[in-house]
Amino acid sequence: MSQTLTLIADEVRSCTKCRLHQGTRNGVPGEGNPNAEILFVGEGPGFHEDAQGRPFVGPAGKLLDEMLTRAGLTREDVFIANIVKHRPPGNRDPMPDEIEACWGYLERQIAEIKPVLVVTLGRHSMGQFFGPDARITRVHATLRPWRDIMAYACFHPAAALHQPKYREMLEEDFDGLPKALEVARKRAADRVNQAEAAPAGVATGASNTDADDGDAPSQLTLF
Ligand code: URA
Repeated sequence: MSQTLTLIADEVRSCTKCRLHQGTRNGVPGEGNPNAEILFVGEGPGFHEDAQGRPFVGPAGKLLDEMLTRAGLTREDVFIANIVKHRPPGNRDPMPDEIEACWGYLERQIAEIKPVLVVTLGRHSMGQFFGPDARITRVHATLRPWRDIMAYACFHPAAALHQPKYREMLEEDFDGLPKALEVARKRAADRVNQAEAAPAGVATGASNTDADDGDAPSQLTLF
């Protein structure tokens, strides 16, 4: 972990910005490779994550590990974080003000790790990167620009555990991940080349678009 990631993790563990910390055992800042090309973003800690202070260590985590293997990845390759970093009581959905209160931590993690690709797991995470009107059934397994990197939407592993019909779609999402990474890497390399080619002080025309911008570039389908 870099010093900055350690600092963010310490702040998360003692965070009282919203009600979620009340009654929890541990904050779950996230963990993984500080130089990861891929940052996975889940929803929020569950029972096991709250007990251990680590992301995706319960049954959903086991399935995530399986999906990572399917995509040719290991936990050591990636960084895994969540939209909210304390467990919502009874595993309820995080509320908009809780997501808002926690968002700064994820932004700082992204700025420090500098992934080329954010992979969203589930609809709450997807909403932050694909915009509030996006529907997971439509955007899963697709890629879209987010600020100066790319975002790729996947179903949440827990959904596949609870409803077997989602298992196939989750597999489809992870089967598309290597291609999504390739596209995201190319975009990152193109941006570096553009920046090097442009004289100092001249804008490259690269957009810095957030998911909630009205004129966001349309999503790319990989299949
Ligand atoms: N579900 C999530 O969204 N995140 C975790 O860390 C564990 C389960």
